[in-house]
Amino acid sequence: MAHDRRGCALLAFALSVAASLAAPVPAAAQYFGRNKVRYDDFDFKVLPTSHFDIHFYPEAGDAVGDATRMAERWYERLARTFQHEFKDKKPLVLYADHPDFEQTNILEGQIDQSTGGVTESAKNRVLLPITGSYQDTDHVLGHELVHAFQYDIALSNNGGGLGRMSQLGLWFIEGMAEYLSLGRESPLTAMWLRDALLRDDFPTIDKLSRDYRYFPYRFGQALWAYVGGTYGDDAVITLYRAGLALGPDVALESVLGVRSDSLSALWRQAVESAYRPLMEGRTAPADLGRVLESPATGSGRINLAPSVSPDGRYVAFLSEKDLFAIDLFLADARTGKVIRKLGRSGADPHFDALRYLDSSGSWSPDGRKLVFVVTAGGDMSSPLWTWRAVTSSGRSPSNGSAPSRGPPGRPMAVPSRSRARAAGSATCTSTISKNDRFGGSRTIVTRIYSLPGLRMAAPWRS
Ligand SMILES: [Zn+2]
Repeated sequence: MAHDRRGCALLAFALSVAASLAAPVPAAAQYFGRNKVRYDDFDFKVLPTSHFDIHFYPEAGDAVGDATRMAERWYERLARTFQHEFKDKKPLVLYADHPDFEQTNILEGQIDQSTGGVTESAKNRVLLPITGSYQDTDHVLGHELVHAFQYDIALSNNGGGLGRMSQLGLWFIEGMAEYLSLGRESPLTAMWLRDALLRDDFPTIDKLSRDYRYFPYRFGQALWAYVGGTYGDDAVITLYRAGLALGPDVALESVLGVRSDSLSALWRQAVESAYRPLMEGRTAPADLGRVLESPATGSGRINLAPSVSPDGRYVAFLSEKDLFAIDLFLADARTGKVIRKLGRSGADPHFDALRYLDSSGSWSPDGRKLVFVVTAGGDMSSPLWTWRAVTSSGRSPSNGSAPSRGPPGRPMAVPSRSRARAAGSATCTSTISKNDRFGGSRTIVTRIYSLPGLRMAAPWRS
């Protein structure tokens, strides 16, 4: 696995939500010498709280107050867990959305879509975008604030310093941040564990430390969950402090009384006994159908976000099959044969990048047009592709989540760039602009979300 954070582990630990997804995009940026483009001037204000200086700008809206409360709640939890308090307030920089975050001037270099947040060591600043989902924002905040505590402890008297911290490795640092922010149960991590068992490719701690094909966030979280579940969460924190002083292997042996290879075997045994019974008697996808897009069929390693046309004849999907970026392709849904490339990240004058992590295309009812979320001019928007002509003219504002197709004969809805608003209520209302290029008149519809996760409850009211 190529991981884009590997090169800057000393400078900053980031929450990366994807493994190899991140690889092609920074590579392209590097090869073509692209500079970071700043579209907006942010009028930052500072809101001091008990443990943070919150940097925000008015466009981030009401969500800032909620994110501030989340941050203080995380501080209380993590201070108790780490048995450690900050001496000084930490800067916490909130961006209104991901395209704004990508324009930050705090960090050099490109920030990829897969980076959910960053904690940097120079001034121990935490930077993150507010997402459309409070659950995601809370997770990223928790994850980054674990790093803030890790840095603070490493930089305190007898802490060992940043050099020692970076030697602990990504599974140690990032896995701990995932464990302490997500807890022991995670369906995503469980999927990675089951897959590793199925392929008989479950990593040892040694492999996790040396081989970046084993995604350190997921396997690291699972390993810390095993340590915390078996020895108690106090052992997790003791191990962190001991790891700074002694290095990870010696720390494991001195704190847990077990060598790293024995711990690897015990961990695998525990995962086997938890998941093997659940995997018995299941049907594998390959037993039910044919793989349409994979390296074996001439496509790339990464094939994402398939969206099948209403008549079932076509599938639009994202892939890095052309090496330099993740592009949008159209294929025959029965054979998988690629018909044409619909959109090219970094080479289309209408947009800067396709949103490849949190989005999937949606078709017009007649199957002639496709809408997809992109980043353009520092905002997220949703151009339409009339795939037969491959035009991407016209845009609607978007918050980056998947646009949804309405019932047959109804116009398509595209989520607007609405700021997350909650005000602590169980439901909240937002508006979306109705995209009228499928034949409807332009009106505003009301969308009702339930929290957490801002799920759509009543999508069609016009
Ligand atoms: Zn991280």
